[in-house]
Amino acid sequence: MRPEDILLPTPSGVCCKLGNFHIDPTRPVERALITHAHSDHARAGHGAVLATAETLDLMRLRYGDNFAGATQAIRYGESVTLGGTTVTFHPAGHVLGSAQISVVANGLRIVASGDYKNVADPTCVPFELVPCDVFITEATFALPVFRHGDPDGEIAKLLRSVTLFPERAHLVGAYSLGKAQRLIALIRKAGYDAPIYLHGAMEKITGYYASRGIALGELRTVRGAGKASLSGTITICPPSALNDLWTRRFPDPLAAFASGWMRVRARARQQGVALPLVISDHADWDGLTATVAATGAGEVWVTHGQEDALVHWCATRGRKARPLDIVGYGDEDDELTAAPQGGGEDGEEP
Ligand SMILES: [Zn+2]
Ligand SMILES: [Zn+2]
Repeated sequence: MRPEDILLPTPSGVCCKLGNFHIDPTRPVERALITHAHSDHARAGHGAVLATAETLDLMRLRYGDNFAGATQAIRYGESVTLGGTTVTFHPAGHVLGSAQISVVANGLRIVASGDYKNVADPTCVPFELVPCDVFITEATFALPVFRHGDPDGEIAKLLRSVTLFPERAHLVGAYSLGKAQRLIALIRKAGYDAPIYLHGAMEKITGYYASRGIALGELRTVRGAGKASLSGTITICPPSALNDLWTRRFPDPLAAFASGWMRVRARARQQGVALPLVISDHADWDGLTATVAATGAGEVWVTHGQEDALVHWCATRGRKARPLDIVGYGDEDDELTAAPQGGGEDGEEP
């Protein structure tokens, strides 16, 4: 049996005929297995969805109660039989509830890792290495230039700036699901205990994280706060809000942006980011290559991002590798321009 007989890559996601399901499909299907709740992987409108309880909850928050015909929650390490396959979910370390999905048939194991990172994150269960025959990996930061470094060092930079400019309001752009909450947790870990302010688009998801027992300290909404009271504070907002009229409510705002892309200084400058913070929820080049090697997979399928460099790296190390041309996985994480428009402080992201 070839791997393609178990999981068949199609332009709208990988499809398993044996088990009659798709993984992270970009169009509505009968049965979807979802790795995590970011909108490029988790879409509304499937007949049935199998995912972790957190991913299902986050999809419900974003899309409403009727986002799928039926839902089934699965725990990390739990296996279910679907047709001729055994499916198991393992932590991916990307955002709360994120999972890698292992599919085994005829003794062959394929792991679809969704998005992942192999570094510590106080807001989610750490990445688990799953040895496999075929590893499906993302490639968002698959170029040697991308080395994310130490997130605590980046947080220290932010807090230094807050001390240095006590009259200014620090606005930190961060993707609303995962990055925002991780930032808050990292800021708390660094000992900052003043209230942290939230853009309206962040409230629901951040509230959900807090309800799952993740310690985020005192959070306040920007809505209704007087301009003067925001001097010297930190506010977390969607990246798109940094270039929005919304920023006018802050005294002398200073724009920071937490993203793996901030490694590219020209990009930060171009986007008007005064304080770039290199913090990503995706594995960097070292993380990707170390993980691919550690899975022991003889074959690697590469999705969304810099496929070519990772495919080439695999080939030079005697691993079979191919890019998957899935249309519609994008970078939820890290674009100022592609980020959802909050539409003002009460805006809901799409
Ligand atoms: Zn993601
Ligand atoms: Zn993704």
